[in-house]
Amino acid sequence: MGKALIIGAGGVASVVVHKCCQNPDVFEEICIASRTKSKCDALKAKLDGGKTKISTAKVDADNTQELIELINAFKPEIVINVALPYQDLTIMDACLATGVHYLDTANYEPVDTAKFEYKWQWAYKERFEKAGLTAILGCGFDPGVTGVFSAYAMKHYFDEIHTIDIVDANAGDHGYPFATNFNPEINIREITANGRYWERGEWLETAPLSVKQSYNLPQIGPKNIYLLYHEELESLAQNIKGIEKIRFWMTFSDSYLTHLKVLENVGMTSIEPIMFEGKEIVPLQFLKAILPDPASLGPRTKGKTNIGCIYQGVKDGEAKTYYVYNVCDHEACYAEVGSQAISYTTGVPAMIGAMMLMKGLWKKPGVYNVEEFDPDPFMDALNQYGLPWVEDFSPTLLEK
Ligand code: NDP
Repeated sequence: MGKALIIGAGGVASVVVHKCCQNPDVFEEICIASRTKSKCDALKAKLDGGKTKISTAKVDADNTQELIELINAFKPEIVINVALPYQDLTIMDACLATGVHYLDTANYEPVDTAKFEYKWQWAYKERFEKAGLTAILGCGFDPGVTGVFSAYAMKHYFDEIHTIDIVDANAGDHGYPFATNFNPEINIREITANGRYWERGEWLETAPLSVKQSYNLPQIGPKNIYLLYHEELESLAQNIKGIEKIRFWMTFSDSYLTHLKVLENVGMTSIEPIMFEGKEIVPLQFLKAILPDPASLGPRTKGKTNIGCIYQGVKDGEAKTYYVYNVCDHEACYAEVGSQAISYTTGVPAMIGAMMLMKGLWKKPGVYNVEEFDPDPFMDALNQYGLPWVEDFSPTLLEK
């Protein structure tokens, strides 16, 4: 069917590449391009020989001109951005300059402030519309599948959704005292930020990790879940009809939180640059360099993830509740694609989103969050490509 340019060669990119290669009728040709070309070449070496033709390239995705040259040389239908959130805008600029569709899994963040807002990317809407190009934002699991689940709930089960609780649980154990499951810098910036949720038309802030409750997750058991701000709250609060309250919850073990607290207390999670032996360094970036590489956790991680959404609303005048979730097994993911479940649950939806676009099912000029597209073909593809979902029509609800 066509060609995709994949930018980034980390944990998530590796899954995207594996999944594109499992789907060669859609992804006839891919180019893996990243800052460190040897990582792209290593991925190519793992997967070469199948039906999907693979090439690699070195690119600095902070440099729009370099990206334009690469896109013009490879001529893809879509750029799948699985580098870091800092590169979103330069890659969107390059897509506009070359007439290519765009997809990412995380909203743009300026390097020097940990802000999670779509405003920078939504500002591209008119330019993508005028160019006849589609930009699909946040197409991992959360954001991503959580938005597709919401669109599916809205389409099939509710007239109005009043409350959404997104619960992201990872019961995986990698055996390290402390490691993050995806890029440590991005992960820690997210967790150490203030919590925030939407209620009756306004954002309410909470101190970082200060609101918790216990929830008994299917196939995982009872876990402490903590209220966090997560970027899909912003778009879902706008796009879901009738929404009154929306919260995001994530599990953390006590040991993880203790390590994080110590690192925070000594200043290691700061994004303020400091001078060290005559050189400016950012403590959080230094911490990233000494923590285990998330891509290396795959062979060590045992256990499951469970990510899903609990909805409360009305259908035909009756109160209704609905829970839809996916359970993913770290070891099964590793056996299939050589990555743990966090990369897997992000990379599979990114491939599916790109496939939706290549097949013309999710093609509409402009900049969109995933819940603005038809969820049905995406939900079918989740079952087909390794992220089957389970429905529960009388779930236990979270505390208010
Ligand atoms: P990694 O750190 O493992 O990989 C990032 C990759 O991007 C690396 O290969 C890195 O290159 C490359 N990169 C960084 N800067 C540049 C640049 N300037 N030019 C070119 N390449 C660059 O991260 P992950 O794979 O864990 O995460 C990828 C993305 O997925 C992130 O944006 C993350 O926020 C998002 N994500 C989304 C989730 C969701 O559910 N929506 C969940 C988890 C992650 P190098 O190897 O040289 O460092």
